Amino acid sequence: MNDDPFSRRGAALFVSAAALVHNAKTIMTHAKAKRLIAVIKANAYGHGAKWAATVLAGQADVHDFAVATVDEGLDVRQVLPERRDQIVLLGVQNVNLVTVMAENYLAPAVGNLDWLLAARDLLQASDSPLPPLRVHLAIDTGMGRMGAKTKAELSSMYQFVMGEDAFELAGVFTHFATADDQNQAYYDQQKADFLAQVTALDIDPKYWHVANTGSALFHFDEIPTETIRVGSALYGYNPAYPSKKTDLPLQPVATFKARIWGVHQLLAGEAVSYGATYVAHENQWVGTVPLGYADGYHRTFSGMTVLINGRKERVLGRVTMDQMIVSLSKPVPINTDVILFGQDGQEKISIEELAEYGQSIPHEVLTGIGSRIPRVIEDK
Ligand SMILES: *Cc1c(COP(=O)(O)O)cnc(C)c1O
Repeated sequence: MNDDPFSRRGAALFVSAAALVHNAKTIMTHAKAKRLIAVIKANAYGHGAKWAATVLAGQADVHDFAVATVDEGLDVRQVLPERRDQIVLLGVQNVNLVTVMAENYLAPAVGNLDWLLAARDLLQASDSPLPPLRVHLAIDTGMGRMGAKTKAELSSMYQFVMGEDAFELAGVFTHFATADDQNQAYYDQQKADFLAQVTALDIDPKYWHVANTGSALFHFDEIPTETIRVGSALYGYNPAYPSKKTDLPLQPVATFKARIWGVHQLLAGEAVSYGATYVAHENQWVGTVPLGYADGYHRTFSGMTVLINGRKERVLGRVTMDQMIVSLSKPVPINTDVILFGQDGQEKISIEELAEYGQSIPHEVLTGIGSRIPRVIEDK
């Protein structure tokens, strides 16, 4: 047994439970929220959903989680077997899976009455008794993915849920399209639309949840939120970067590290990688790193800075599927660490900077970190 995480792959994503817990507490305090629905879809934005659920339930007293799919919900249910730990399914769901949802206490978002009618029939046809299905009614105030657009549509769903034993109302929500950018007018419109709909039906505010990270960070004083529904902030990054900055002391949960597995010298005039786009002007040391775009280090990161021994170095030429070449201002031993994002001595590369460099967003970079990369818990 060799428990060196680099021994097989030469790259690993390190995750910190302390940072995750710190961020959950920090964003709740900032948004003056009493309850947190921790968004851990897409394997907790690449960090590990079961790990994140266990840490947040155990160390931050969080009992509401959200994922995107039934399979993600079942996965998280393995580590949170109790019904009191709610697992919300965000997004449109296939009604044919409604029995599985009820059996496993998964609480789907629901966008129209037809879905509820079909769900009721399927639940009633079940041979074994099922617990009531908790549902979250979606209001489409401008995201355009799902939900009631009119008061009449919301009212029909709401009345139906309240009148059927098969269902239990668990939430009423909307999703903001511009919470993390400068378009305040669109945000204001969505917010007003939501408030008009829920107040017209007199739905208790304890059911409302609207704030994603952008909203919890930048609009926390605009909505009487008891519950926030955030992902990015938990993982310690600002989804609004660079258009909106925040001073909130969030801590990055993940550090992406690889190792130098080869060191060699390029002679003046020699090129590296596909397309031979990088040519050495003079003799120069370089290192080969066993990490490529199939691992989530995108081709658009070619030319990006990496940190080696606290110094800035650079990805030379194109990132390939499984390997890439980095500059070395002096030769280093095999197995020297390379930081792709994270802190190294005085230097730091943030996930926001890396994503911006590669014309991506932090969510996409983190969720794209491949299955070949082991996730390593820094602090147990
Ligand atoms: C992904 C998602 C969130 C979390 O968004 P962040 O910006 O990462 O906080 C919240 N609500 C819904 C409906 C989502 O799809």
